[in-house]
Amino acid sequence: MARVVVVGAGLGGLAAAARLAATGHAVTVLEQAPQVGGKLGWYGRDGHGFDTGPSLVTLPQVLEDLFAATGAPLSEVLPLQRLDPAVAYRFADGTTTAMPGHLEDVPARLDADLGPGSGAQWAGLLTRAEAMWRATEQPFLRTPLAGAATLARLARDTADVRTIAPGRTLRGLGAAYLTDPRLRMLLDRYATYSGSDPRRAPAALLTVPYAEQAFGSWYVPGGLRRLPEAVAARAVERGAVVRTDAAVTEVLVTAGRAAGVRLADGEVVPADVVVCNADAASLYGRLLPPQAPVRRARTALRRVTPSSSGFVLPLALRGRTPGLAHHTVLFPTDYDAEFDALFGGRGRRGSPKRPVADPTVYVSAPDDPATRPDEDSESWFVLVNAPRHEPGAGVDWTAPGLADRYADQLLATMAARGLDVRDRLRWRVVRTPADLERETASPGGSIYGTSSNGARAAFLRPANASPLPGLFLVGGSSHPGGGLPLVTLSAEIVAGLVGPA
Ligand SMILES: Cc1cc2nc3c(=O)[nH]c(=O)nc-3n(C[C@H](O)[C@H](O)[C@H](O)COP(=O)(O)OP(=O)(O)OC[C@H]3O[C@@H](n4cnc5c(N)ncnc54)[C@H](O)[C@@H]3O)c2cc1C
Repeated sequence: MARVVVVGAGLGGLAAAARLAATGHAVTVLEQAPQVGGKLGWYGRDGHGFDTGPSLVTLPQVLEDLFAATGAPLSEVLPLQRLDPAVAYRFADGTTTAMPGHLEDVPARLDADLGPGSGAQWAGLLTRAEAMWRATEQPFLRTPLAGAATLARLARDTADVRTIAPGRTLRGLGAAYLTDPRLRMLLDRYATYSGSDPRRAPAALLTVPYAEQAFGSWYVPGGLRRLPEAVAARAVERGAVVRTDAAVTEVLVTAGRAAGVRLADGEVVPADVVVCNADAASLYGRLLPPQAPVRRARTALRRVTPSSSGFVLPLALRGRTPGLAHHTVLFPTDYDAEFDALFGGRGRRGSPKRPVADPTVYVSAPDDPATRPDEDSESWFVLVNAPRHEPGAGVDWTAPGLADRYADQLLATMAARGLDVRDRLRWRVVRTPADLERETASPGGSIYGTSSNGARAAFLRPANASPLPGLFLVGGSSHPGGGLPLVTLSAEIVAGLVGPA
């Protein structure tokens, strides 16, 4: 039995804690915030309640595996609800389509809404995506990153390499299958699921729409914040101790290995194994002593683009919107302008990072009594992609007036695209990338750690086993990346690397 300290109670940290406790280790989770969950936040007031982070669960089988491996099945603890339609899209030309929640229904819907032939184009793309999924799920997503060995595993079958198209971008591969600009926009959007730019992210991200459409889009009744609560409860059931308001300021190194952590009040918590769920940039930049033998990991981290952030606008509304889908996406005219604003334009479009002037707007409006004070009210979570909080180098989201002006602009944008709720507004809350950084200790408010921009980004992402013996990384800033299913997979990988007691 090892003494394990987990730094951070995000979903990845909690899942690792549950798995490690279930295999007999003595686990202590230390979370700097007053509550568990990290980016899976919640805001409630006057009977309105909002998830402030994730609103969509994909790959539910990954969560099922976690619960099955640590005790009672997920269905007994937290039954999930499959969404159908998965999301309603509105394009700038006024066309709409409600994407079905089951893969087999998608082509007919696209043919009906976007024109004959659209369904076949999308289905052709998803056939390729399915092959990519089969080629990468086990050797990449479910396996520790091991530099050249990972590449060799992926390259073992040349047919697989051709399928993954390592030299191509998501945008580039999409263009080979899709002629309709609206379908291309749909595909581009999946790059943003990892805070990336479709013009630079690899074609392998095609696995994202495949995973979403093949395995469904899901909701947790009562709110997604119930997920980390349930995983924390599971960890505690299996013997772990979860401490909140416990900020770790240093990972201790003794005799060339991780030996525990120091808290902000000076308390030392000794450990044989440290699992870090704090962002890898914080771990390598701040929590480890400068002389720790992690130089290459620090260098690799400097070579990747951080993921973008998000601007979140919870809206407490009077009345209900007839026919509103659980998720709605309102696309702009010029999607490239959004990516230029998020990451800084390149070439002729060269420009500084800035709030997106005419962004894609995402609205999540669960029809869930737990989120509203009465049947004649709604609670909307509005999210747009936003550049990170980078005072001095990029956008300073704390600049006086910026957040409120931008929130007003978003409400006007929504109105122009057919969702005008300004006269139904009870109140709103404005949450900027700076708030996300402050509350979840995520540098710059990056949602997913590092982005997938660049062919090598996935391989430069910090590995789960750090170069320092006894120190492991779990969560969205490490392999295999961000998003609820991937951080849960990273916990499974870490539990495997640590091994049973
Ligand atoms: C607005 C928004 C929308 C999103 N939408 C989706 C979605 O729809 N679907 C989806 O799958 N994903 C979505 N995501 C991404 C998803 O939330 C994250 O990938 C995932 O929750 C990250 O989990 P994690 O394990 O990396 O930990 P995090 O949630 O990043 O938590 C890390 C924890 O570590 C703690 N910590 C940091 N430093 C210290 C320290 N020094 N000492 C102690 N504790 C520390 C932090 O306080 C935090 O609680 C969204 C995220 C955001 C912000």
